[in-house]
Amino acid sequence: MIEILALPAFDDNYIWLLRADGCAAVVDPGDAAPVLQHLAHSGDRLCAILATHHHGDHVGGIGELLARETVPVFGPAAENIAGVSHALAGGERISVPGIDVEFEVLAVPGHTRGHLAYYGPSLAGTGALFCGDTLFGAGCGRLFEGTAAQMQASLARLAVLPAPTLVYCAHEYTQSNLRFAAAVEPDSIAVQKRVDQVAAARAAHRPTVPTRIDVELETNPFLRWDVPAVRKAAAARLGHAPADAVETFTAIREWKNRF
Ligand code: ZN
Ligand code: FE
Repeated sequence: MIEILALPAFDDNYIWLLRADGCAAVVDPGDAAPVLQHLAHSGDRLCAILATHHHGDHVGGIGELLARETVPVFGPAAENIAGVSHALAGGERISVPGIDVEFEVLAVPGHTRGHLAYYGPSLAGTGALFCGDTLFGAGCGRLFEGTAAQMQASLARLAVLPAPTLVYCAHEYTQSNLRFAAAVEPDSIAVQKRVDQVAAARAAHRPTVPTRIDVELETNPFLRWDVPAVRKAAAARLGHAPADAVETFTAIREWKNRF
């Protein structure tokens, strides 16, 4: 049985820690301190590190962790991340040592050029996705290195994962993202319901993640390029009807950048 813990880091990051049989694997350790604290308290041994992309708030702690113990580090081949021992392009299947978990590696460029997501079909009973800064609760990552077309294709790949798949994203952004979702779809009852749920969770200092693929399909404007209300919102920004999913996504993404 694998336990998945959220280690809060910085202002709004989560480092995800998977533990079983005295071993721990971490995803996106931007800071070593919370990981070292967990290892000290639990007695777990670090067995692997997974990185989704090269931004400092995701990889900044890798060096300090490796200084204590040499473990396999999985990360994108297309990005320059110190310490990566297993460079991945997407399309691979990896087995994480110690915790005995298999992941499918998905290339999801857009936020960065080589951004990866790790999909574990057997995790948590439902499947689990570790997607860094690609898909967020009710939102998606900014386009720093990739194009809108790349990001839309990356999100489309994640959108077809099984509906109950748990989505472990790297930031607690859901509440502010939902303010934007409500502006895109002011008549959506599902968005309004989620606004209330998320407000209650945050008031109680509970994380709003992991979220689920089906919840995102219903409320995340960045997965809803085919929905008439979202196409209409995009048309209002563009001044004409969007030609396709990419144009709809692009208009919504640009609106969010200024929101
Ligand atoms: Zn990032
Ligand atoms: Fe980030």
